[in-house]
Amino acid sequence: MTKFCFEIQRQDARARTGLLHTTHGKVRTPAFMPVGTAGTVKAMMPEDVAATGADILLGNTYHLMLRPGTERLARLGGLHKFMNWKQPILTDSGGFQIMSLAQHCKLAEEGVTFQSHLDGTKYKLTPERSVEIQHLLGSDITMVLDECPKHGRPKKEIAQSMHLSLRWASRSKEEFVERPGHGLFGIVQGNIFEDLREESARELTRMGFDGYAVGGLAVGEAQEEMFTTLDFTVPHLPSDNPRYLMGVGTPADIVGAVERGIDMFDCVMPTRSGRTGKGFTCRGEVNIRNARHAEDPRPLDDACDCPVCSGFSRAYIHHLFKAKEILGPMLLTRHNLSYYQDLMRRLRESISEGNLSAFVERFRKIRLEGDLDPLQ
Ligand SMILES: [Zn+2]
Repeated sequence: MTKFCFEIQRQDARARTGLLHTTHGKVRTPAFMPVGTAGTVKAMMPEDVAATGADILLGNTYHLMLRPGTERLARLGGLHKFMNWKQPILTDSGGFQIMSLAQHCKLAEEGVTFQSHLDGTKYKLTPERSVEIQHLLGSDITMVLDECPKHGRPKKEIAQSMHLSLRWASRSKEEFVERPGHGLFGIVQGNIFEDLREESARELTRMGFDGYAVGGLAVGEAQEEMFTTLDFTVPHLPSDNPRYLMGVGTPADIVGAVERGIDMFDCVMPTRSGRTGKGFTCRGEVNIRNARHAEDPRPLDDACDCPVCSGFSRAYIHHLFKAKEILGPMLLTRHNLSYYQDLMRRLRESISEGNLSAFVERFRKIRLEGDLDPLQ
């Protein structure tokens, strides 16, 4: 039986690289988790997601509880079997999406009641039910239910919300069934306020979790505010547990957060952008719909060795998007996920070799130069 544990192999300043051991295998950190919203990483076969180098996926409790439904998914053998993904899965608690997608959402001490955005069915999600759902899905990493207030709310409201999240974290921990290789993560809240983040981190550490997430960022604040918040939050987290920055982010966000000691990330950006024509490259972002690519025979990213960049031109992907061919979003999603996983691999290698700062300097310099000049 695998024990759920985190093994730090090397540190470079505040950054670290290591292995997270779960019942479905190892996760190399720093890790990026592609988002498999409704039991699928959109436009991707599971084996292709694995081929990009992803060790772990994120599943969305809110979407799965509404459709196909928790109990049905459990009867079908859980999420891994249902979607044919053999490696670890982290599930979110459902809270963030209830508050952003559901209708008639009512928050109380006990939990949150809401109506499905699909058909108006009423649901109640308590911290206990969220943990139970994630157990039924077969999640390797369960997240506690928390409340994530909108950016820019008064401090008093942020404090009340953070305290509610602490009480919910404690109830989630009570409910969580310990199983070998499965972990429960707490979520630090408190927005951009140092004393609130410190209190949240201290209380969660006292309760004791297998990992600690920093929540409530990437909700509209500037990158500098996010980095400052990490600068004063991360030192209050236990150094021997994984740290997960939820919902982040752009390649530059990830690089800055890894420098600040974050081990795990998730974001819809590479997949969502892949469907709308935005490609990530070592030189920054490219809008493949732009007319300048119409006769460009070069690959999207000449520094990328993914099957898309080795087999297809910018001109071809541009054509697919113009002609609204389904292969366009498929190819761009495949490349974008490869780009993100390649970035994570390079970050891990740089930390292992003790030269992260040189890597980061190169990463920023190439991006400042911008995309390749158009062909004449
Ligand atoms: Zn590529």
